[in-house]
Amino acid sequence: MNSSLQTLGSSSLHRIQRLLGWIMRALYPGSFDPLTFGHLDLIERGCELFGEVVVAVLSNPSKSPAFTLEQRLRQIEISTDHLKSASVISFEGLTVSCAQQNNADLILRGLRAMSDFEYELQIAHTNRSLAPDLQTIFLATEAHHSFLSSSLVKEVARFGGRIDHMVPEVVAEDLSRLFN
Ligand code: ADP
Repeated sequence: MNSSLQTLGSSSLHRIQRLLGWIMRALYPGSFDPLTFGHLDLIERGCELFGEVVVAVLSNPSKSPAFTLEQRLRQIEISTDHLKSASVISFEGLTVSCAQQNNADLILRGLRAMSDFEYELQIAHTNRSLAPDLQTIFLATEAHHSFLSSSLVKEVARFGGRIDHMVPEVVAEDLSRLFN
């Protein structure tokens, strides 16, 4: 890298890299109730591919989440601490508005199986009709994470099953507090 660029602070360097189009900011929206290793894998690969991932946690009280918004934000913050280019925010309302307000270049979503496809495609088309400049990019899940879902993890935890291979430690601790 050019030595004059190296002398800049990392946040200024980051801004310049974005301006030059070397980095794209991906918005990864979801409920994350709670975060699983499947989600985390997508965040890690998103950072590698695009340069920056903003995890956007949906605050939707009508969905009656198992974990509060603050708990979900904390779980993600702690679990992504090793990723310098990942950040986490909360949002309400339309995903496209959140993407626009946060200057995202694209929306990132994950595909586990055909069962995800129809729903994800419908959302992607809807978002595109609302914001034609905003693309949705799908990453296929790693095969060994394809069985993972937040609801399945909660079911296993509720009945005392092992979950340490499904979720980060901080989430496992929160789940055991929730069900014990
Ligand atoms: P939502 O309520 O918006 O579906 P989720 O937290 O369930 O929120 O999922 C957020 C995104 O993460 C979705 O695109 C979903 O397909 C993806 N995802 C969920 N589980 C996994 C997994 N095991 N591997 C990869 N992607 C996943």
